[in-house]
Amino acid sequence: MWFELTEEQSMIKKLIREFAESEVAPGADERDRTGEFPEEVFSQLGELGLMGLPFPEQYEGGAADTISFAIVVEELSRVCASTGITYSAHISLGGAPLHLFGTDEQKRNYLSPLCTGEYLGAFGLTEPNAGSDAGGTRTTAILDGDEWIINGSKCFITNASYAKNLVITAITDRSKGMNGISAFIVPTDAPGFTVINNYEKLGLHASNTTELVLDNVRIPKENLLGEEGRGYKQFLATLDGGRIGIGAMAVGLAQGAYEKSLQYAKERKQFGKNLAEFQAIQFKLADMAMNIEVARNMVYKAAWLKDQGKAFKTEAAMAKLFASEICMKVCDQAVQIHGGYGYMREYQVERFFRDAKLLEIGEGTSEVQRMVIARQICS
Ligand SMILES: Cc1cc2nc3c(=O)[nH]c(=O)nc-3n(C[C@H](O)[C@H](O)[C@H](O)COP(=O)(O)OP(=O)(O)OC[C@H]3O[C@@H](n4cnc5c(N)ncnc54)[C@H](O)[C@@H]3O)c2cc1C
Repeated sequence: MWFELTEEQSMIKKLIREFAESEVAPGADERDRTGEFPEEVFSQLGELGLMGLPFPEQYEGGAADTISFAIVVEELSRVCASTGITYSAHISLGGAPLHLFGTDEQKRNYLSPLCTGEYLGAFGLTEPNAGSDAGGTRTTAILDGDEWIINGSKCFITNASYAKNLVITAITDRSKGMNGISAFIVPTDAPGFTVINNYEKLGLHASNTTELVLDNVRIPKENLLGEEGRGYKQFLATLDGGRIGIGAMAVGLAQGAYEKSLQYAKERKQFGKNLAEFQAIQFKLADMAMNIEVARNMVYKAAWLKDQGKAFKTEAAMAKLFASEICMKVCDQAVQIHGGYGYMREYQVERFFRDAKLLEIGEGTSEVQRMVIARQICS
């Protein structure tokens, strides 16, 4: 057992902490108010070589490990969860399926531009009638000569307005059930492809969440990702990795809310004392610190297992579930420690509180995580 970051992981942590503090944090409140997408931040992350962090160098990636990826997501989310989710989805939903299942040519054509930061990665799985039950996909792909014709719609898709290509799932053979779902790489500028960006969300206002409409979209036959009929298994494997990203987001967001609360408790005076001198507040801070520490260890362990090539499905689900639930509690207590000021935008913890809720929903709800864990331990 070794609980210290490697030299490379420490360097990445220092780099991204400084970047997040100087380039991401200052505009976070304003972006939350306006919904402006931080395009400039992602160009800068591209220049720093972080947009393809865990992918191989031959495809312009950084060849770093999953713990380093988790650290970047954590540090971005500590100051701005919208930036954190955009980065996490870009890597673990946009890039990962191409990396895991793409041919060399597909990786050169579609993974490399993600790694250089030319555009963002996205992954279209969820549909209006297929959320937790993603096997209920209704989008279809029919082979017509050398082209697939795709029809259907997707909802709640992160980053699609900033993606030139994205991976989506569609039914290629309805009679085969889950084994009749396949994955495709689809250019977002293909005729018949519409990306709609008009959701009004509770939080994560500066992240891009879209609806996709595919109306007789034609793509070349070779844009099938991996084998026909393997799409369901591919997206389950993709989500296993994605859960490490959401877990890391939860750890970072909780850390940010905790730090603001600690600072506030040391400054705010009531009854002639700082709040931090009251045991009731100290115990809240102690619980926050403890839960964040446990969650971080769980996320890093799941990432480490993945890097070792070991099974990590259960640990990733546990880490995502635990981290997202403690994040929600930490943010709730952060608002409580700030009292009435916590309810006001100026003190930022209300932004953290609103942003945190998505972590119990995205990439598998808490109920779905419990189903995944139960399936593993009861089988
Ligand atoms: C901001 C945002 C970004 C997103 N980004 C993406 C993305 O990039 N790509 C993508 O494909 N999707 C994305 N999603 C979709 C997300 O993954 C789904 O919202 C999520 O999986 C839940 O699906 P649903 O919303 O249809 O809820 P439902 O599946 O309808 O669930 C509703 C409730 O019922 C519960 N439930 C459902 N089935 C069961 C069961 N069998 N047992 C017990 N309880 C159950 C759920 O846990 C939940 O509490 C995003 C969503 C949001 C809000």
